[in-house]
Amino acid sequence: MFTLPDLPYAYGALAPAMSERTLHFHHDKHHRAYVNKLNDLLAKAGRSPASLEEVISGAAKAGEEGRPLFNNAAQAWNHGFFWQSMTAQKGAPEGDLAKAIDKSFGGMAKLGQVVVERGETHFGSGWVWLVADAAGALDVKSTHDAQDMVTERALTPLLVCDLWEHAYYLDYQNDRKKFLTTWFESLPNWAFAAEQLANASKGEAWRYPTSDARAHAA
Ligand code: MN
Repeated sequence: MFTLPDLPYAYGALAPAMSERTLHFHHDKHHRAYVNKLNDLLAKAGRSPASLEEVISGAAKAGEEGRPLFNNAAQAWNHGFFWQSMTAQKGAPEGDLAKAIDKSFGGMAKLGQVVVERGETHFGSGWVWLVADAAGALDVKSTHDAQDMVTERALTPLLVCDLWEHAYYLDYQNDRKKFLTTWFESLPNWAFAAEQLANASKGEAWRYPTSDARAHAA
């Protein structure tokens, strides 16, 4: 059974940029539902894999047949990563990360413009990611629906912002641009992004908590 990881901060910690109410609905209802459906699908298939990354990769290869499992597994992962991508301790990129942002985008203001523009113009539900390639070059990508970065083996995600309406509707209604602008100004966990960048070349980037199925079976 895969678990719903606790938020790495209090529910009210990100307010007013992201309200306590939004985090309760988003984490306790939406993320939990993906985890529950994922566990149901695995139980029905008689499977108890330990690694969510393996579930996602396998389901992606299974094409349409694997779609329900992929959607719920990838959404569970994407949300786990999204919670890590934010912090109440507003900071700024430092060191190698700051240098990489300067080199790839021409500075933080430009990166912010790219994130907001890419997220705002993304049609429908999805995610906007700051990613690094193996050489440490950064880029901003958006993905549709549950589409993830686990299956993008050449890229390591540094941060992600959720573009599904449930991520911002309670706080910003239809104003996705204001949500993205506020999110970029106040919520990114730059220390986490820097760790991801440092680990990108070592294959030690963030992983979803492993399933407790084996612990129970032992
Ligand atoms: Mn979401």
